[in-house]
Amino acid sequence: MKEIILLKQGEMVLKGLNRRGFEDKLMGNAKRRLKRYGIFHVYTRQSTTYIEPQDEGCDFEGAWQAMGKLFGVAGLCRARACPKDKDAIAACAQEYLGSQLASASSFKVESKRADKSFPLTSIQLSQYVGSVLHQAFPKLKVDVHTPALTVHLEVRDYDAYVHANPEPGAGGLPVGMGGRALSLLSGGIDSPVASWMAAKRGSIVDMIHYYSYPYTSPAAKEKVLELARLLIPYTGKQCVYIVPFTKVQEELRRSCPEALFTILMRRFMMRIACRIAEKNGIQALVTGESVGQVASQTLEAIACTDAVCTLPILRPVVGMDKEEIVQIARKIGTFETSILPYEDCCTVFTPKHPRTKPKPEELVEAEGALDVESMVADAVANVERIILDL
Ligand code: ATP
Ligand code: MG
Repeated sequence: MKEIILLKQGEMVLKGLNRRGFEDKLMGNAKRRLKRYGIFHVYTRQSTTYIEPQDEGCDFEGAWQAMGKLFGVAGLCRARACPKDKDAIAACAQEYLGSQLASASSFKVESKRADKSFPLTSIQLSQYVGSVLHQAFPKLKVDVHTPALTVHLEVRDYDAYVHANPEPGAGGLPVGMGGRALSLLSGGIDSPVASWMAAKRGSIVDMIHYYSYPYTSPAAKEKVLELARLLIPYTGKQCVYIVPFTKVQEELRRSCPEALFTILMRRFMMRIACRIAEKNGIQALVTGESVGQVASQTLEAIACTDAVCTLPILRPVVGMDKEEIVQIARKIGTFETSILPYEDCCTVFTPKHPRTKPKPEELVEAEGALDVESMVADAVANVERIILDL
């Protein structure tokens, strides 16, 4: 009989009265992700979301991979449906979980009965199936406290289901429950991870990238778009804003002290991002900064960039070591693209001796030589907007 997918909700089960909203969002996100894999019936009962293929043409494997990247899901498992009869259930468990039962050192059976007309109680069903499995796999020990394998049985309205231990899901909260954020996406390792972490907490994440043609190549821009695409299985639909940044950088080089260049440039990035965010109903910015990593990431430098920003700035990787960030980048599949050797607009005009402890007054003074408002307005007016979807 058919196989289905069960999604176990994570933290959202703690959500009291709001919980329904979280569940609906989770199901909506699941349905959107599943569309390309065929027709699935999606519904939720008792903190579990059920995903049932509706015909033979469904790409079950594709759906399974996609659900493993759905935020809001703490754990997921495949389950096999079978008729609601104790012998059919035992035979299904023996066959479907055969290889796991053969290699496990110990097991127990746990049953849930949504259909109260089923003739056995949950405990009777567990005992019955447990004894059948024990006979079939005599080496297997019963351990009700810390079993290596738990065989789960669920008797529901139309069918019974058999499954083993859930695998870890993507965690977090359903995207769409945490407002909308704008992530400053470079071609580096850190900002894709930061974007992923913001989406994990339920924010819709749009991307903004500053592009310095001809100092940086079209391939560098394409690399950033590829990073954004790699995140779509997690974030869902994204809007990517590509900001032409060359004029701003040339003006800074012409008019301002070289040692302050990086931090001035970052202040312009923030101003432009805030302007675009406010125009598009976005509530916060996200960056891949972590404290102390480079000259522009000292607390003094961070204070100087934040001073021009009108929105909160989330820095999800702020306390992480590079190695921890790399681990996540590998897990989510962005690392290999991030390390492709294309230049970033930040590296094009890097000062020889950047100031690591700039003072806000110095920056205000340096910016006195500029028409800040028209530089920002000009960049915003020339933004390219690209929609990326599943
Ligand atoms: P990353 O690995 O994310 O590039 P990094 O360690 O190289 O980070 P910086 O180059 O100082 O650090 O950049 C800090 C943050 O500023 C980045 O994580 C990103 O959020 C943002 N940023 C840098 N360059 C750009 C860019 N060209 N477009 C958009 N955002 C950028
Ligand atoms: Mg970088």
